[in-house]
Amino acid sequence: MTQSTATRYWPPHKPRTLTLPQTGLMHSLRVTADRYPYKTALWHYGRSLNYRELREQAERLAGHLAAQGVGKGDRIALWMQNSPAWVVGAFAAWHLGAVVVPLAPMLQAREFAFFLQDAGIRVGIVGAELYEKAKQAGLGHVVSANIMLGTDREAARIPLPEGLDVNPTLQPGDVTLEEALQHAPAPAADVSSDDLCVMPYTSGTTGLPKGCMHTHSSVQANVFGAGVWVEGNVEDRSLAALPFFHVTGFVNSLLSMITAGGTVYIMSRWDRDVARQLIRDHAITLWTNTPTMIVDLMASPSFDPADLRSIRNITGGGASLPEAIGQRLLDLTGIKYVEGYGLTETMAQSHTNPKDRQKLQCMGIPLFNVDARILDLDSGAELPPGQVGEVVIHGPQVMQGYWNRPDDTAQAFTTIDGKAFFRTGDLGYMDEEGYFFFTDRLKRMVNISGMKVWPAEVENKLHDHPAVQEACVIALPDERSGERARALIVLRAGHQVTAEELQDWAREQMASYKVPRDYQFVDSLPRSPTGKVAWRQLQEQARAALNPS
Ligand code: AMP
Repeated sequence: MTQSTATRYWPPHKPRTLTLPQTGLMHSLRVTADRYPYKTALWHYGRSLNYRELREQAERLAGHLAAQGVGKGDRIALWMQNSPAWVVGAFAAWHLGAVVVPLAPMLQAREFAFFLQDAGIRVGIVGAELYEKAKQAGLGHVVSANIMLGTDREAARIPLPEGLDVNPTLQPGDVTLEEALQHAPAPAADVSSDDLCVMPYTSGTTGLPKGCMHTHSSVQANVFGAGVWVEGNVEDRSLAALPFFHVTGFVNSLLSMITAGGTVYIMSRWDRDVARQLIRDHAITLWTNTPTMIVDLMASPSFDPADLRSIRNITGGGASLPEAIGQRLLDLTGIKYVEGYGLTETMAQSHTNPKDRQKLQCMGIPLFNVDARILDLDSGAELPPGQVGEVVIHGPQVMQGYWNRPDDTAQAFTTIDGKAFFRTGDLGYMDEEGYFFFTDRLKRMVNISGMKVWPAEVENKLHDHPAVQEACVIALPDERSGERARALIVLRAGHQVTAEELQDWAREQMASYKVPRDYQFVDSLPRSPTGKVAWRQLQEQARAALNPS
């Protein structure tokens, strides 16, 4: 009989299972607000909200949403930069048993429209600077939030992000967040841990974006798992520099702190000097980030290792942290970077390094209650330590499936020992102690500073350009951002377009982080015997050309 990987390996002295709460996330906020009503929950450029205020605002906004007909199971768009309004919006939805669909503020109106349609969204809480786009995309009822309202430059003593301070002229039926907060609180819905909670989008291993159905229970698995792992507590101050629309920012920087009763220092935009000042002036203790942020921070001419003195834990993931960077951080500050690994489908991490026994450039070991294995690509058989195969995961944080996509869901899972394992599309191996290491990806993805760009989505858009006959997007290594995208373009006969023109056009079609910075015009694209563009061959050729041995 196969022994479970979850119990086989290091660390033998720690419990590897965790009993999870059977309650919804709003219940967690209510508990914290009862215990620490006047403790600062959220800090945002000088403005702060205590736990009592956060809870009350969420219940009032829920009152307004309920008056718009929002109820259990309805999907609510949260489309804005990190802010207290984002957090109030999420808890308001959970108070009613509604489902949060967190979306990247960089999206163009037509991309936003896709999500509205796909998830069947009628109501949204939207950053005021995105209001016009939201209406253009067809969002029915909008609660518009000027997220910088009430922030205080004097108190913050740091530069405020530009361009977020907007008061749009609302259309009939829409309201500002301040108006919505005048509503009487809604009664709490009866929410169980098996109810849907949040639906973040990803392209997974194939095709176009798909909503990952996460229940309160799958979110709680990582809120508690991650919280226990770093021993997060009421004294902690977490720097929330990662976007909340992405699972890692959402779970690690935000929710695990709310559950512990700590304080979340919210950044609406990444800025290394602001981050440094916040850490120093507010004695930040926990910081979850992407490797690029660490690289960027340490590259700043004003970086002073002493500024990080208050930090007791830096965790990160989304991409590998190069070993040399982890070592430099340790040498300069004494802080060991705790790398983790996970996906949108696993509500942030499935693996993380134990904080007292890290390995560098390593995914870590499976989190509580997680069984992870390495499968042979051809036979599907489980591989022994040291051999590379696909990483598959069974655990309480794994999603229920993709929203309205039973075929994609079926393909995303495989059964071993009677249990459903999620197929990550990532390649890796496990060492003799049960630590997992990432080696490559089976799936098509460009990982730019932890932001994932899906080649199929970008190619689809590029095909809309009148001069483009065919496009293939590949991932190349990049010193700063880990990876960058290159688009290989075949032009239609008789058409001309320059790389700059194509890039300018693409910026109007898609969120700027998805727009390739690098274009190469080619006569044709090689194909596999089944007629598909041989993207991996193109990618390997381009990588070899960058690094001739
Ligand atoms: P996302 O769904 O945006 O969270 O992206 C998940 C993907 O990020 C994974 O499938 C990996 O390809 C990549 N990833 C996450 N953590 C790591 C890590 N520690 N090392 C390398 N790649 C990672």
